[in-house]
Amino acid sequence: MLQPRATGILRRKLGARVVRTDPASRAAASYDSAKIPFLPEAVVHPRKEADIGIVLELANKFRVPVTTRGRGTTLTGAATPIRGGWVLDMMGLKKITIDQEAGMAHVGAGAKVADIQRAADAKGWFYPPDPSSKEYCTIGGNIACNAGGMHGGKYGVTRDFVVALRGFLPTGEFVEWGTATKKFSAGFNMRDLWIGSEGMLGVVTGAVLKLIPQPAARWTLLTSFSNETRALEAALALFRTRVQPAICEFLDRESVLCAERATQQAVFAGQAGRPVILLELAGSKLEVREQSAAVLAWAKAHATAHRVAKNRDEAEQLWAVRRKCSGAMFELGDAKLNEDIVIPMRNYVKFAKFLVRLKRESGLHVPTFGHLADGNLHVNIMYHRADKAETRAAEKAVQLLMETVVSLGGAISGEHGIGLAKTPFLRIQHSPAQVRAMQAVKRALDPRGILNPGKMFEVFHVWKHEKLAVHLPWDHK
Ligand SMILES: Cc1cc2nc3c(=O)[nH]c(=O)nc-3n(C[C@H](O)[C@H](O)[C@H](O)COP(=O)(O)OP(=O)(O)OC[C@H]3O[C@@H](n4cnc5c(N)ncnc54)[C@H](O)[C@@H]3O)c2cc1C
Repeated sequence: MLQPRATGILRRKLGARVVRTDPASRAAASYDSAKIPFLPEAVVHPRKEADIGIVLELANKFRVPVTTRGRGTTLTGAATPIRGGWVLDMMGLKKITIDQEAGMAHVGAGAKVADIQRAADAKGWFYPPDPSSKEYCTIGGNIACNAGGMHGGKYGVTRDFVVALRGFLPTGEFVEWGTATKKFSAGFNMRDLWIGSEGMLGVVTGAVLKLIPQPAARWTLLTSFSNETRALEAALALFRTRVQPAICEFLDRESVLCAERATQQAVFAGQAGRPVILLELAGSKLEVREQSAAVLAWAKAHATAHRVAKNRDEAEQLWAVRRKCSGAMFELGDAKLNEDIVIPMRNYVKFAKFLVRLKRESGLHVPTFGHLADGNLHVNIMYHRADKAETRAAEKAVQLLMETVVSLGGAISGEHGIGLAKTPFLRIQHSPAQVRAMQAVKRALDPRGILNPGKMFEVFHVWKHEKLAVHLPWDHK
């Protein structure tokens, strides 16, 4: 429903440079990385925190839907304004200050994650959460999705680094959840309720993040295995020794083959198409020296081949297979369902067997890679969009994948969230009582349902919607 009167009032209050209604601004904010467009009525670029309170108060008064947007890199459609209304673009609030003594970063919600890491690094500190999209995505988006990345197993995800949050309730009231202290036990933990709430329970304007000392040493090793089961069993054997790699990336045979074809080079000479595990240790020099000896012994006992990087350049060469594989998969289809499921370690081997069945029964390529130290695997269902049979097979495959993941004690999302794309599967993961509890929280904080409506709980079928043919800066060639 169009709200020209409300938009007019908002423009008069905040100015035409803050509240944009031109077609180009609206079109640019109509979609995110899911590429399913819904046109908003206006795009608001707040210059200061107080602007957001004004937006939300008016939105409540006139019942205008508001969708908060970071950089729009979400793959689930979570930042798509499916009910129109106003898009709140947070990119302008991007200040970063490092507190050297406390080891904390004070950041605006629009700060780019890679900029936070660089600012911390310049002062000898380290902010570990590192989504692959970090050169684009904002910390506000990371907090809203509880973003992860390759460091999850050793260090944790965004949630583990958020000390305090500030921002606005959906009703427009300013709130602060916690302060810049290492301890805080005063009242309900609303901070954690906001983390992962996908922009539905509040607007984050700023955060205090925990930093850790930059590791003094790193050590990188690439290993290959005769098949997926052997690789996964070997990883479990390593974890039993209580070595905690900073990174432990697994690539199955299909993922390796894609990278090898793209680079026209076998990862290990004479061993093309073997699944690999890329390991990185990080810590003090002593810690890395001790652990690398144990990991090397493990590699000799379990892997068919291994290579240690002697310096950062060589480490970069070992990383090539991991960096290449995701883009290279598009040789297998022009569309990819990049699922970010989580599997408990005890069921890794069962899941590998399921993937073999999924590929056979669907007739599709499903290259899979991911973070073995936390069970978060990217299952990439590849298909050709114009091929109706393949599209139907992909739709069935993702349903079977989600059912199997939950039956194995896993999670339908480990880092991307629900948004629109995973709404058909929410109730596979959560019982009716669990969904009702979440909806009750939503109603309590957002009685008029203005903040990011239509997400999470209402089933949305992405298959029924045409995707825009646009190339985003972070898309593969
Ligand atoms: C190439 C690529 C690689 C990726 N790799 C990873 C990865 O390794 N790990 C991972 O976790 N994710 C990954 N993602 C997904 C995505 O980058 C993350 O979900 C990221 O957190 C989104 O941040 P954003 O700033 O783009 O937010 P947006 O996409 O703009 O928004 C995402 C959600 O956050 C909400 N939101 C945004 N800002 C705020 C705010 N200030 N207050 C309240 N709500 C807000 C939005 O309403 C929406 O629900 C990847 C995406 C791409 C395209």
